[in-house]
Amino acid sequence: LKRSEDNLRSPICCIMGHVDTGKTKLLDCIRGTNVQEGEAGEITQQIGATYFPAENIRERTRELKADAKLRVPGLLVIDTPGHESFTNLRSRGSGLCDIAVLVVDIMHGLERQTIESLNLLKMRNTEFIVALNKVDRLFGWKTCKNKPIVKAMKRQSNDVRNEFKMRVTQIITQFKEQGLNTELYYKNKEMGEIFNIVPTSAISGEGIPDLLLLLVKWTEKTLVEKLMFTNEIQCTVLEVKAIKGQGTTIDVVLANGVLHEGDQIVVCGTQGPIVTTIRALLTPHPMRDILFINMSKIFYANASLMPQGSYLHHKELKAAQGVKINAQGLDHAVAGTGLYVVGPDDDVEDIKEATMQDMKSVMRRIDKSGAGVCVQASTLGSLEVLLEFLKSPAVNIPVSGINIGPVHKSDVRRACAMLERKKEYGTILAFDVKVSPEARELAKENGEDKKREASGEAVFPCRLKIMPDCVF
Ligand code: GDP
Ligand code: MG
Repeated sequence: LKRSEDNLRSPICCIMGHVDTGKTKLLDCIRGTNVQEGEAGEITQQIGATYFPAENIRERTRELKADAKLRVPGLLVIDTPGHESFTNLRSRGSGLCDIAVLVVDIMHGLERQTIESLNLLKMRNTEFIVALNKVDRLFGWKTCKNKPIVKAMKRQSNDVRNEFKMRVTQIITQFKEQGLNTELYYKNKEMGEIFNIVPTSAISGEGIPDLLLLLVKWTEKTLVEKLMFTNEIQCTVLEVKAIKGQGTTIDVVLANGVLHEGDQIVVCGTQGPIVTTIRALLTPHPMRDILFINMSKIFYANASLMPQGSYLHHKELKAAQGVKINAQGLDHAVAGTGLYVVGPDDDVEDIKEATMQDMKSVMRRIDKSGAGVCVQASTLGSLEVLLEFLKSPAVNIPVSGINIGPVHKSDVRRACAMLERKKEYGTILAFDVKVSPEARELAKENGEDKKREASGEAVFPCRLKIMPDCVF
């Protein structure tokens, strides 16, 4: 298949920003559903992405008189995971994100995680658009449901407009302090040099059409080269999950290429590379889950293959998509690493080697001979961030062992060995992972009297929230 400007894949977009700025709500609003409401008790763990077909975007942006035809098939938005602080973009969406939306609360301006996100974006040179959210909270705001922002603004009183201007000016100044030029997108004459701000309300939908159109138009304009569809697989494991009746599955984002049922794949595992065969390619049932699927004929050709549980089966899936893969032997797969497909001309050994590269580079950073705590996280990315953090001069906690995924008995045993060398290092710092009952039991037996009441905050004076439950 030849790469061409006429065959673009969907851009992949991440939503980032400080907690409570409205990231989830914004996605809900675009989606026209309400996941956030149901999220209260439990972090929603879906396939990790939402697909917006171009038709949908066209419909939503009609009032903006977007004459030109959209060239991308749609937009894939990576959901922000529940543990906001740093699983945010870094560990999951990070590498595969083409463009980001940085959400800022108009009433609060730039906050700590806004600046962290900004630094990540700068570091990776990722394009982004600022959504200046919660404009409906300006005192006296007149709701103009789902209207383009300029139209909505025209309907506001002078007081509202003045407050808006004042706040926007302040926020632009704050961005400047971070070394970035920003401007309201409809006033921006130097797109590319100056980052765009789109005022939005995730509650009443003002500015959402603008945000959608700008996302699509901007990616089409600046990222064509990157968005040309190829047959070369670009795929990242977002999450490793045990599903009732299916065993361990992996949720991936397919950024480029086509995956087929029966493809031989290689993924990174904590115990070495995993070579396996795709047994099923699944996407959530559109009615029950949050993934919007491109209703294209190929995917639904065989209606009899449709719902089994709440998932749809596919013979093949084309980028960009969030996909659940069912295959054997995925128990120890590592989230945050790449997935490779073994082609007819490929040497499996080379691919196995490539698969383990990320993991190896993280492993190398740890001095296995020394005394230190054990660190365990849900993804390679979050593990990396944790390790970086522990190493920083202000924290400076040595690490002797790492793992990815749930804490099992063997992990506890390893940590126990450290008790003899240095008591306080007989600790597992676990982030965003489950602890098996047996592991918990073993930890109790070995550490009852030594068990420290250390909550995450006690060990980490600043900001990392370690589930206190998991620190023993
Ligand atoms: P997240 O932490 O960034 O995902 O933020 P949420 O989407 O969970 O929103 C945090 C809170 O702000 C919730 O109570 C939302 O209802 C509220 N919220 C989000 N967006 C808006 C908005 O545009 N206007 C107003 N008034 N409230 C909002
Ligand atoms: Mg949220």
